[in-house]
Amino acid sequence: MATETFEFQVEARQLLQMVIHSIYSNKDVFLRELVSNASDALDKLRLAALRGEVTGADVSDLHVELTADPDARTLTVRDNGIGMTHDEVIQLIGTIANSGTAKFVQELQGAKDGDPTAAEGLIGQFGVGFYSSFMVADEVVLVTRKAGEESGTRWASSGEGSYTLEDVEDAPQGTSVTLKLRPADTEDQLHDYTAEWKIREIVKRYSDFITYPIRLAAAAPAEGEEAAEPQTLNSMKALWARSKDEATEEEYQELYRHLSHDWTAPLETIRLQAEGTFEFQALLFLPARAPHDLYTQGATRGIQLYVKRVFVMDDCEALMPPYLRFVKGVVDAADLSLNVSREILQQDRQIQLIRRRLAKKVLSTVKELQANSPEKYADFWREFGRVLKEGLLGDTENRDTILAVSSFASTHDPEKPTTLKQYLERMPEGQEHVYYLTGESRQAIEHSPHLEAFRAKGIEVLLLTDPVDEVWVDAVPAFEGKELRSVAKGEIDLDATGEAEQGEEQKEQRQQEFAGLLTWMTEQLGEQVKEVRLSTRLTVSPACVVSDTHDATPALEAMYRAMGQ
Ligand code: ADP
Ligand code: MG
Repeated sequence: MATETFEFQVEARQLLQMVIHSIYSNKDVFLRELVSNASDALDKLRLAALRGEVTGADVSDLHVELTADPDARTLTVRDNGIGMTHDEVIQLIGTIANSGTAKFVQELQGAKDGDPTAAEGLIGQFGVGFYSSFMVADEVVLVTRKAGEESGTRWASSGEGSYTLEDVEDAPQGTSVTLKLRPADTEDQLHDYTAEWKIREIVKRYSDFITYPIRLAAAAPAEGEEAAEPQTLNSMKALWARSKDEATEEEYQELYRHLSHDWTAPLETIRLQAEGTFEFQALLFLPARAPHDLYTQGATRGIQLYVKRVFVMDDCEALMPPYLRFVKGVVDAADLSLNVSREILQQDRQIQLIRRRLAKKVLSTVKELQANSPEKYADFWREFGRVLKEGLLGDTENRDTILAVSSFASTHDPEKPTTLKQYLERMPEGQEHVYYLTGESRQAIEHSPHLEAFRAKGIEVLLLTDPVDEVWVDAVPAFEGKELRSVAKGEIDLDATGEAEQGEEQKEQRQQEFAGLLTWMTEQLGEQVKEVRLSTRLTVSPACVVSDTHDATPALEAMYRAMGQ
């Protein structure tokens, strides 16, 4: 069949341009990306075969093979995994599937012009993957055949505006990617990637934990000699199954990158090995930064499920409560069926128990950070605090822990967030409640008339400005026995704080004094208010609008309106 030429999708082309005019200083990583894709393809095939979803596929020796040809200056990465159909090649290689990416590429372009390291960080958030080949190659040829299908597809491009596609009859199962390497250039950190030592070094550094053999094909034999056996370059030992001293921090970071496509080192690594009835091992990571799709419905989550070292599923939402959706990692359970479906997982008792253990472990890790690494904790809270607070609504079992690890802006110190515990410690004698005010932004509420009397009396108020704050404050009655009270709701009796004593008599008298005004105002405002009453909460402003204790706050009303309710 004839060769067809296709244009890259606009965003894909922009991304490619940036990759070629390299944002990465370290070009070695292209091989990691290709091996990572190969490993994913092997995972997919093994699983499909186990589930009986493919017929006629060969799964007897799943592996990755690297072949270098110094004379032709080519390097080939081949896997005998799931492969791609003609349409999948167009879909997966010619476009950037993620809808948020177009915007991202723009940001990237901006960052690149300004600060190259920022660009590197940004790009790491979604990983350029396959396209990184073009950092080291003038031309890339991909030949693939989907497992179980008859014919294959050849894709080729020099990374400019277009690529070509061709049907091929004799392609082996899986995918091979052949790079026509650019000449080595030390200044540009472009190594000779046909050199055996270099290939060995890169695989060892970045891909040692890959659970399939990565073999280096032997060089062509000299006349009259036998071809040597290919050598396996990686140890294949799953990191989570190793003991702590059998793995280095670097190796953990590489696994994290493989899982998350995030190039920034994780903030914290969490190991958990549970023995007994429900045996499982987990290796979890708290990222250093929130991903751009943290609030996107249906965005991928970060936990991979393995059963006895066999990959079973990506993005396993059953293993983490939604408010910990940013946690990345691997869970390897001993007694699960490889055939398990997402629906079954949601119901599975063992999975539910594992999820509880994991959630507790993550929260206790945050607690440790808070106690022992205040800076790390502050970073964590800045990135993920908003999400974590969602847990105050759903996870009643861990509510107290979540409250304890939460930080809030406060009138006490505009520069520094406070914990509830610190708030309680500062609470003066006689103050019974923890006061807060919710609103859209700190600026908006700092000048709220609701705060006047509190400020005048030196009573600390928490300033809650995340949308989720509107909701959880209603679900959480108290912290360590102290009720949480909005300063904008119901009747606030500041007299109870012991300051500014105001006798009942005096109150009565003022009530009478203002009775006429109150009646008049009630008539004027009519339907718009429930009641007009005399207040002790203001010192400077003449009046303010308050909600009933159980009414929605204005911000929450706005949120409901926005949601069309
Ligand atoms: P990512 O791996 O983050 O999805 P890549 O750019 O590395 O992004 O790859 C894009 C997609 O192309 C992959 O998700 C996969 O579907 C497909 N792909 C890439 N390499 C292979 C391969 N060796 N075998 C099968 N599919 C592949
Ligand atoms: Mg990839």
